[in-house]
Amino acid sequence: MQNVYLDHAATTPMDPEVLEAMTPYFTEVFGNPSSIYSFAAKSRAAIEKARGQVAAALNALPEEIFFTSSGTEADNWALKGTFEKLSAKGGHIITTKIEHHAVLHTGEYLEKTGGAGVTYLPVDAEGRIRMEDLKGAVTDKTVLVSVMFANNEIGTIQPVGEIGRFCRERGVLFHTDAVQAAAQLDIDVKELFIDMMSLSAHKMYGPKGTGAFYLRKGLKLENFVHGGGQEKGKRASTENVAGIVGMGAAVEKMKARLSQEKPRLSTLRDRLINGVLKAIPHAKLNGAMGEERLPNNTNFSFIGIEGETLLLDLDAKGISASTGSACTSGSLEPSHVLMAIGLTHEQAHGSLRLSLGRSTTDEQINYVLDMLPPIVAKRREMSPVWEKFLEA
Ligand code: PLP
Repeated sequence: MQNVYLDHAATTPMDPEVLEAMTPYFTEVFGNPSSIYSFAAKSRAAIEKARGQVAAALNALPEEIFFTSSGTEADNWALKGTFEKLSAKGGHIITTKIEHHAVLHTGEYLEKTGGAGVTYLPVDAEGRIRMEDLKGAVTDKTVLVSVMFANNEIGTIQPVGEIGRFCRERGVLFHTDAVQAAAQLDIDVKELFIDMMSLSAHKMYGPKGTGAFYLRKGLKLENFVHGGGQEKGKRASTENVAGIVGMGAAVEKMKARLSQEKPRLSTLRDRLINGVLKAIPHAKLNGAMGEERLPNNTNFSFIGIEGETLLLDLDAKGISASTGSACTSGSLEPSHVLMAIGLTHEQAHGSLRLSLGRSTTDEQINYVLDMLPPIVAKRREMSPVWEKFLEA
């Protein structure tokens, strides 16, 4: 049996070289970056080096990068920080129905507690927003548009440059959650008119518990964590020096590998997609194709199958994967993303996400293409939903 990890959208393994860069900051270089003696200056210098590494990868300035504890925190900061600073102007936020919960639940929180008006834009059948919908939703009260760069479930990439240009022209701030996209695509924040962006280290072979927030120079948001003067007083608390060093190293390495890794993964992805669609009757691909899809994402629906059962069967064959459903409080909720692209409950429940990464090989794709079709066929034999589907 092979061990095949195909859940890189959930998290990635730490790059050993990233771990090596981090290790001294867990051990001998332990000074508090805020202390004034020269030993602590080493910790400060390490943070500033990492800030430069992240900035360089995005064509940002070092002073535009703020380290956070996660992508979730960066998303929270974008929405809450903008709303609190600009609510007097109107407090209307526009986002989409397919955002990660870090954005969706923050939007709901602001609606409930802050009186924000939040518009959740619909998406088309492949998960793209329509520019006409965005243009129609902006009012004089709109302070922020938050549209994810690429979706974590179905991999669809949004027209970020077009959205950014429109927002800049309308004088509305634009935030994008690039937690998935930054690990797979070249991003130039200036070229794309991005005002704020969220990143997370653990999606790009760095450590868990470290993220970054890009905030365009000159923009003023409400500070996020109140306390000491760290991160220019905007995000207090003693810095996670090792995590930040790891993020800097991971981003730099990811950027250097991108030109090779992107075509390699796209080829593997398309082979997997075509193989699955050919071998499994009535398999459906969720999301867009080609350049509008993340190079490492595949997402399928198999009518007549329960995603969770499929995951267990795949696990028994050594394959780690993910489904779009989330079991919350005992009831199985279909994915909000799959529902937003118009899938039925049955299709959404029978979904499978296989997300590729650095360790994914041709042999692994062959292995999945050997294992998956008989598993689906066997489960369908026992499925009343499949029987009904065939009769219809
Ligand atoms: N946004 C997107 C699109 C994600 O995929 C994730 C994680 O899956 C997050 C935000 C949250 O990032 P973190 O795990 O760093 O909090």
